[in-house]
Amino acid sequence: MCAVGTGPDDLGARVEFPTTTPEETIRRVVEFFRERGKREKLSAVGVASFGPIDLHPGSPHFGYITSTPKPGWQNTDLVGPLRRALGVPVGFDTDVNGAALAEGLWGAAQKLDSFVYVTIGTGIGGGGVVEKKLIHGALHPEMGHMNVAHDWRQDPFAGVCPFHGDCWEGLCSGPAIEKRWGKKAEELPADHPAWELEAHYLALGVMNLVSTLSPQRIILGGGVMRHQELFPLARQKTVELLKGYIQIPEITERIDEYIVPPKLGENAGVLGAIALALGC
Ligand code: ZN
Repeated sequence: MCAVGTGPDDLGARVEFPTTTPEETIRRVVEFFRERGKREKLSAVGVASFGPIDLHPGSPHFGYITSTPKPGWQNTDLVGPLRRALGVPVGFDTDVNGAALAEGLWGAAQKLDSFVYVTIGTGIGGGGVVEKKLIHGALHPEMGHMNVAHDWRQDPFAGVCPFHGDCWEGLCSGPAIEKRWGKKAEELPADHPAWELEAHYLALGVMNLVSTLSPQRIILGGGVMRHQELFPLARQKTVELLKGYIQIPEITERIDEYIVPPKLGENAGVLGAIALALGC
């Protein structure tokens, strides 16, 4: 998805095309921005990418997609071709780090110093801001691959993560729901036991994030979270799991404002890229 603009109130025409081969996809991105750049001067480009990616400025592979399972995309230089073709600075980060930045600037985490954005859809990914800085560390967080408690008697499902089986993504993503119950999430009725179990796994992941990063808010987005009934269930189960140990008013008094949906909706990804460009 490509767009030109400066924020949610100034988001020009969006175009969307499928991610095919790196050559074709990058060529279409360059064509879009060259065309748009004739009308409005581009000052920077931001790329919010699926990962894993190399974000180390000194690395020979900075700006590359690295060990992704996506066929054909291993070791692909994304930043280099864009910078050479467009001649502007390129901001680069993971799609979820971009979305976290955007939610902090314009969405559900405005004015907060520390928060986490998690998307639960075809996979699970998370971006964290701690004390006003995006977390990168040695690589970038891979929150979807946290290990969460898996009670095999309650849930004998082995999980769908190709690397770990029953990590958080393996148990709690959209494909996990579909494979466990034999139906897509959107086909399951609101009173299906799938939702109770899904909320349980959401709460386990949220509990780990609360315990490790001490966020002031947790934003849960992605296709699975369009099932709004998950929010009250996940909040209640998070409070139960924490067992009163973490005594902060965000959790003990204002849990409804603590675990929240994103505010930028469908535009979170592309606004994340704009947020990265603004940071150039
Ligand atoms: Zn995994």
